[in-house]
Amino acid sequence: MKMDMNHIILNYKSKLFDLVETAGKNEIANWISIITDTFQASQAAYYTRDIENKYQFVLTCSYSLDDSTIPETITEDILSRIFKGENVINQREWRNFPQLSLYNIGFRLVFKNKEKGYLFLNIPAHSSEEYDQNFYQEFIQESVCFLNIIEQLSGIVEEERKYKELFRVTEKFHSSMNIDMVLHEIINTLKRMFPQCQYYLMLSNDYHYKTDLPIKTLHYDSADENAMESYVNGEIRMIAARESKHTTLYAPLLGKQGVYGVLQIVSAHSLIFNNNEIEFIRLLANTAGGALENAKLYQQSTRLIEDLQLINETSMKLNASSRLEDTLHFLHAQISKSFHVQDIAFVMLHDNSCSVLEGSSSIFYEPEGEIYLDFVLKSLEREKDAIFISDFNSKFVNRRVNYSSLMAVPMIERDEIKGFCIAIHKNAYNFTFEMFKLFRSLIHHSTLAITNSILREELEKLVITDHLTQLFAKNYLNTQMEESMNNDEEGTFILLDIDNFKEVNDTHGHQVGDQILVQVARIIEQNIRATDIGARWGGEELAIYLPGVPLNIGEEVAVRLLKAVSEKTTPQITISCGVSYWNKERKDGIENLFNRADIGLYNAKNSGKNQVVVTDKCRQIM
Ligand code: GH3
Ligand code: MG
Ligand code: MG
Repeated sequence: MKMDMNHIILNYKSKLFDLVETAGKNEIANWISIITDTFQASQAAYYTRDIENKYQFVLTCSYSLDDSTIPETITEDILSRIFKGENVINQREWRNFPQLSLYNIGFRLVFKNKEKGYLFLNIPAHSSEEYDQNFYQEFIQESVCFLNIIEQLSGIVEEERKYKELFRVTEKFHSSMNIDMVLHEIINTLKRMFPQCQYYLMLSNDYHYKTDLPIKTLHYDSADENAMESYVNGEIRMIAARESKHTTLYAPLLGKQGVYGVLQIVSAHSLIFNNNEIEFIRLLANTAGGALENAKLYQQSTRLIEDLQLINETSMKLNASSRLEDTLHFLHAQISKSFHVQDIAFVMLHDNSCSVLEGSSSIFYEPEGEIYLDFVLKSLEREKDAIFISDFNSKFVNRRVNYSSLMAVPMIERDEIKGFCIAIHKNAYNFTFEMFKLFRSLIHHSTLAITNSILREELEKLVITDHLTQLFAKNYLNTQMEESMNNDEEGTFILLDIDNFKEVNDTHGHQVGDQILVQVARIIEQNIRATDIGARWGGEELAIYLPGVPLNIGEEVAVRLLKAVSEKTTPQITISCGVSYWNKERKDGIENLFNRADIGLYNAKNSGKNQVVVTDKCRQIM
């Protein structure tokens, strides 16, 4: 009998040996099949500890003619009540557990404190009487040893698989300068290696991706504390939440020059990552960090070139164009294109006020835009520096604004803030810090062009403007009239002279005389259209040219002025007007037009003043 027992065990061992040799897949199923052969068992069930719930054992493999009656799980409590510290028991011990009625013998597979699981068999009644305790003990010992070896082997295979994967991914990273691809590869690798976990890539706001990857933004202020600590210290952190059954691992994406984000891995249950797994994740995160760094440096260098090109192109265009309107429209277009900006304004500061220049977005002429302009003005007063805001709403406690992202850069010339440029967007965190730096640089480079354009335009205005009356100068009137006589169909010219002005000067003084001139100039401006030209002809004589205006209308304008001047001036004065007219049908010239108006004026004076005389008709109007 003893010989038989030894023989059975030897046979069993030799089969296990063969199984180890050919190990690769389904070792447990093959092992159970060897057991059923060895014991001629008709039923077998093998339970191992559940990794999700460590207080129960789960059916790992079974051999049965009818599987439906085998319990999927058995609690540790029941098992310890059945086995009561023994390693081998028979059916009598589980009379009270009908779910195990299929079996007649049970083994607790434990050896040298290594617990592998529980095995239940249904073996022929006659043979169960033949086996002794020694035999069972040896069977258990050999089984545990076999399971240990299999476990180690599968660990090695698993390790090998991981490092092969790491090697593959490293190769792929090295061949790419594409950040999106690197991030995709990290997630895909993790999904393959740890399919039961969830992953997040926590990246700083500098990244703009169009991918569907689980990317979270790493906010410096309201951050996940553990993620931030891992980010700042460049170390792995593992946090096991007490209430929920998750373990969260934070691995910094470490490059040579810095940390590029944090990889967050959340386990599906209270699985604690073992050292091998942590090491693998650390290597993967470092590889990814290095790859991200390379790709980022590459992107930075191409962006730097693009930035320089933008500044260069802008500077060249700005230097070539001298009109403020062109300058600002061009800048507006460049900024919108390069910074994903929704609205832009160019604002010039004056002593006590500011003006929004043409070329700015319409919102800045409306009350809504004032919120942002006021904010920038106040901030510039205090800080005198560029402003970068990612979430404007966080600045207010009681109200919400529509635009969350804001950049503003002062236009400084010779240490003086001349104005500023502001760019806004409705989305929070729309602008990156890189964009802000480029925006600042672009405005610095453009400031001179803008202020030069403004100066030039002011100068031009000065040249064509009469200093005292702020009406146009005579030269400008001449060129505009010539242009109109070339391009228009008709036009009316009014020459007007203040009556008895010498007397005004003599009575009230020269200064009051000047004020009278200014008053008349304002009355003229109020009574003509923007396209008409009011000018100082010389001394106390003023002139108005009305392009495209027929004589009867021009005459009406003169009469209206006559009335307004006599009613609105203090001290009260009157004027006399000479009116002349041209149209395409007759041969005429600018000198003739002047002469006819002059004759009209002369006649008006001679006929008692305070009247309009149209020379063409030599008609007088009182
Ligand atoms: P009349 O009704 O015939 O036009 O008489 P008048 O006194 O207006 O004409 P006159 O040509 O005799 O005098 C014009 C005066 O206008 C002489 C000059 O001192 C004065 N005058 C010319 N330019 C200015 C000016 O810029 N400011 C002032 N205050 N006076 C001026
Ligand atoms: Mg005069
Ligand atoms: Mg006069």
